[in-house]
Amino acid sequence: MRKPKFQSPSGMHDILPEEQKYFQKIYDVVSNIADFYGFGKIDTPVLEETELFSKGIGIATDIVKKEMYSFRTEGGNYLSLRPEWTAPVVRAYIENGMQTLPKPVKLWYFGPCFRHERPQAGRYRQFWQFGFEVLGEKNAVVDAQIIQIFYNILENLKLKNLIVEINSIGDSQCRPYYKKLLSSYFRTREISLCSDCKRRLRENVLRILDCKEEKCQPIKAEAPQTLDHLCEECRSHFKEVLEFLDEIEIPYRLNPYLVRGLDYYTKTVFEIFPEAVGEEGGSQDALAGGGRYDKLIKLLGGKDAPACGAAAGVERIVSLIKNQNIEFLKAPKSHIFLAQLGNLAKRKSLKLLEDFRKARIRISESFGRDSLRAQLSRANRAGVKYALILGQKEALEGTIIIRDMASGRQTVVKLEKVVEEMKKKLKK
Ligand code: AMP
Repeated sequence: MRKPKFQSPSGMHDILPEEQKYFQKIYDVVSNIADFYGFGKIDTPVLEETELFSKGIGIATDIVKKEMYSFRTEGGNYLSLRPEWTAPVVRAYIENGMQTLPKPVKLWYFGPCFRHERPQAGRYRQFWQFGFEVLGEKNAVVDAQIIQIFYNILENLKLKNLIVEINSIGDSQCRPYYKKLLSSYFRTREISLCSDCKRRLRENVLRILDCKEEKCQPIKAEAPQTLDHLCEECRSHFKEVLEFLDEIEIPYRLNPYLVRGLDYYTKTVFEIFPEAVGEEGGSQDALAGGGRYDKLIKLLGGKDAPACGAAAGVERIVSLIKNQNIEFLKAPKSHIFLAQLGNLAKRKSLKLLEDFRKARIRISESFGRDSLRAQLSRANRAGVKYALILGQKEALEGTIIIRDMASGRQTVVKLEKVVEEMKKKLKK
């Protein structure tokens, strides 16, 4: 096939009707859970000031360094397409006076994000995220609840073998010392690190811990671990989070290398993975990730307040639903087809379709066609139980034919009675 003249930008995809049912199902599950746990929905603009992200996410992170779509407007402002939602949600929380609301403020969202990454399976340049943020609460129960919410959503979507990976990366009390330890450890081994990690050693030493390069693995394995260097407050907070998770029976695995790619995290960080099953299961992309960010609100100009949240990638969930052959997404089918013949009948059919819509009965049609045979063969292919036939004679008499497609038996009823009649038939 010849390439069309115009194609969607690399790494960005159309979401076609057959895909939409997955998005819709995920949206329904997420919004029901958000409702249950008392979260209010928020939408923010897809564009924000670039500085919101460079300040919030961190100037030396991959997202800000290489992955943002940024531009200068005619008016001279620097704007970026949002690569994630937490910084915009915090901006909106501060700007809209939500700091004065009773705490905590609980918000959720569902919408596209943009990152200029190398496109590959499960990694796109425009992708959808949903997420939950709890602002103004420091108790460890919130960390556990955020994890529980994401776990519940994935379980409600019938995804199996999920595992939560969790770590604590400390706070401003203990992290500087730990980073110093890490730096001196890696500095003595710099020569054996990959080129990215050599750069990270100067810019963002924590990120060496999540490097996937083969040659860095043995060096990482011997590195000091954050859990051994937490201050008292971070240690007891983390212990409580794990106790809550034990209580609600969420399976987790401690991962000392989990640091996450954004600077704003403090204390708890976590990701949820589909657990690799059997031999072929290699490293998998995370479905969701998040953690606590106790300093971000202040950093972005708000009153000092703790917070915790997470986000999940919709496309990755859709692809897992497909891989696990989950069947709950059959599109609802209509059982009735409305066929018409002649001008008057077409006009009356248009009106009749509305009567069915108001009665919430699904019905399909092919009004663009005039031949009765073509319409009935379409009804046959659609596998409906009944065809309603409105011909010229019926249109004049105010009647309509109900044809039982299996037996071929036909009955005539008054046009104004047909909705009621079909309601009865479908109930049987
Ligand atoms: P992050 O905060 O970067 O860990 O993103 C949260 C979630 O969004 C990830 O666990 C993924 O499910 C999803 N995600 C992140 N980046 C991409 C991407 N480039 N393409 C598709 N999904 C992504």
